[in-house]
Amino acid sequence: MSDTPIALVTGANKGLGFEIARGLSALGYRVAVGARDRARGEAAAKELPDAFALPLDVTDDASVAAAAATLRDEIGRLDVLVNNAGISGPPTGDGWEQDPTALDLDVVRTVVDTNVYGVIRVTNAMLPLLRRSAAPRIVNVSSNVASLTLQSDPGVNVGPVMAAYSPTKTYLNAVTVHYARQFAGTDILINAACPGLVATDFTGFVGRPPREAAATPIRLATLPNGGPTGAFFNDEGVLPW
Ligand code: NDP
Repeated sequence: MSDTPIALVTGANKGLGFEIARGLSALGYRVAVGARDRARGEAAAKELPDAFALPLDVTDDASVAAAAATLRDEIGRLDVLVNNAGISGPPTGDGWEQDPTALDLDVVRTVVDTNVYGVIRVTNAMLPLLRRSAAPRIVNVSSNVASLTLQSDPGVNVGPVMAAYSPTKTYLNAVTVHYARQFAGTDILINAACPGLVATDFTGFVGRPPREAAATPIRLATLPNGGPTGAFFNDEGVLPW
């Protein structure tokens, strides 16, 4: 088995995921570019020095199982998993607002399926491979809109009400804490990362450059053994739950 560290980034064909993949690649990782569209994944992987496309739809059991089988058969180990793939769901009116009183439950189910169940599905499928690493790291790409402390503080501006999207990241943060508890006593470190507002398709290209926003997820993906786990970070440090 090669000594080159291996990272999988979900939703890495564009946006923040691509920049996380690029950053890990620059640090010497061989990167599996997770992408639900094979052609888009291959196009992105071609732009990186040591990367390959891994077809992966986080909402599809068979796709996730096939991705894990490919990594197992072709590489045999995984050192870093970045659960980056995510969607916001459509607004209920103008702008980004998702009014809780006007939510379509089918939309809510789709966002939860991608942003939460997708992370659990991928993490559990990849765990046997992560357990073969000497320093397994899992990063869940979250958001400060997940923070109930910040959301309920009238003095803090966390943007518009996004009642389909924000609670999925709160749920993701909670799941992160429970994984960390389960991994206690092992070398597996799992943390949630807020990248800030990032200029991607997701925001209509409002926000900071994805390359800058990738810094915290990359830092958490490359923590030394004994580093923090079960916490929520942005560039400035620890965020409140
Ligand atoms: P983009 O819309 O640019 O990219 C999202 C990525 O996720 C795409 O590669 C997309 O694939 C992929 N994706 C969506 N659904 C699935 C799925 N079912 N299976 C596999 N891949 C999927 O958004 P960002 O780069 O901005 O967002 C990345 C992450 O960062 C998300 O989790 C988001 O919630 C989070 N985030 C973003 C912020 C921002 O300001 N942009 C702020 C805080 C957090 P495809 O190209 O096929 O659609």
